[in-house]
Amino acid sequence: MSQHILGDGLREWDSPLYREAVSQFDRVADLMGLDANIAERLRVPQRSMIVTFPYRHENSSEVESLFGYRVQHLLSMGPTKGGVRFAPDVNLGEVAALAMLMTWKCAIVGLPFGGSKGGVRVDPTLLTRSEKQRVTRRYTTEIINVIGPNKDIPAPDMGTDEQVMAWIMDTYSQQVGHTVPAVVTGKPPALGGSVARREATGRGLVSLLPAAAQQIGLKTDGVAVAVHGFGNVGRYAALAAHQAGAKVVAISDIAGGIYNGNGIDVDEAIQWVDLHRSLEGFTGGGDRITNDEVLIIDTEVLLPCATGGVITEHNAGAIKAKLIMEGANGPTTISADRILNDRGILVVPDVLANAGGVTVSYFEWVQDLQNYFWSESEIVGRLREIMSRAFDEVMGVAISHKTDMRTAALIKGVRRVSDAKLARGIFP
Ligand code: NAD
Repeated sequence: MSQHILGDGLREWDSPLYREAVSQFDRVADLMGLDANIAERLRVPQRSMIVTFPYRHENSSEVESLFGYRVQHLLSMGPTKGGVRFAPDVNLGEVAALAMLMTWKCAIVGLPFGGSKGGVRVDPTLLTRSEKQRVTRRYTTEIINVIGPNKDIPAPDMGTDEQVMAWIMDTYSQQVGHTVPAVVTGKPPALGGSVARREATGRGLVSLLPAAAQQIGLKTDGVAVAVHGFGNVGRYAALAAHQAGAKVVAISDIAGGIYNGNGIDVDEAIQWVDLHRSLEGFTGGGDRITNDEVLIIDTEVLLPCATGGVITEHNAGAIKAKLIMEGANGPTTISADRILNDRGILVVPDVLANAGGVTVSYFEWVQDLQNYFWSESEIVGRLREIMSRAFDEVMGVAISHKTDMRTAALIKGVRRVSDAKLARGIFP
């Protein structure tokens, strides 16, 4: 089945990330004996759009062409859902791979979406606010025919935020002639954004801690937790872990890390970052360590919440944690994953562990469509329910297939998608 990985049919999306996503899919498809015709269709995205548009810096008369992308991996499950990233190295292959992962993530937690992803190849740190607004509005105009509340619903990702979502929503609404809050999620609450969306990924991650810890004979109360990355995901994960009774012994961001075996005051660390923009200079009564040291620090639980590819074959052998729960997307390389499995370390994979974000995005979309908004406690309660059901189901697949949780999660996601595709059949 996998003989034509990146053969002629896949060249358009070729990139390291896409190769990895496809080979991971092929392995799981082989393992579960997936219908060959379904496998053939799921290996390639259904729609890929590349746009170019003119862009002029504020203080320049020169026009440059910016490249934008929107890839919709699968349209069989409902509208598609996925973030928009602004980054200097965004490309079609990366966006296609992330769209495919979104399909599995939505299917694993049972959301009525296929996966999508988009982006603009631009360095957002070099843009003024008004430049960023113009890039956002023109990109939205270029992709306007393929997005919409019943078609494809963007959300924030790297380099984009609530404000960018507000501009996308406004541009779309101007074009169609009426206000359409449900066209994006991750908006400011003033425009129909959901309360508790900001905290959702970190909270959802930590809501799985008691069940995951129990699998390896640990208790949440007093368990030592290290958090790599202290942005949106990491800070709320650290806070939720602290509130759940765990002892947060290490945290880090791009500026480096801190270790305190007696526990770090997470509230104090958050206040520091809000004031100084990073953890630089913060000691929290502990010792300064490097970012890399946080990953191999003496802890029972490790939450990688920064970025992709940080756990590799070079450090996987030195990790002391017994449980790793992936807040970031793709923090563990395939070769590191093998080492961790061989060492008996339990890994709760990204497609399950960080699905709290898209789950609360789903709640936001539902609330916008109904113009009826839920309380924070309703949202948090439903998030916990969905995450914990998905965890139990993935664990059930892992036990019945005698496999690791990542493989089990993908089997569960691919099976749900495949059942839907088989039931729909082929048109015409
Ligand atoms: P963010 O930009 O808010 O935070 C990233 C954090 O990681 C920052 O503290 C930054 O300083 C730190 N960091 C960056 N590079 C680092 C490095 N090399 N070493 C150590 N620290 C580093 O981003 P975020 O929204 O928290 O997203 C983090 C990860 O989680 C990404 O992989 C993202 O795709 C994934 N994710 C985010 C959400 C969400 O809802 N925000 C949902 C699912 C997955």
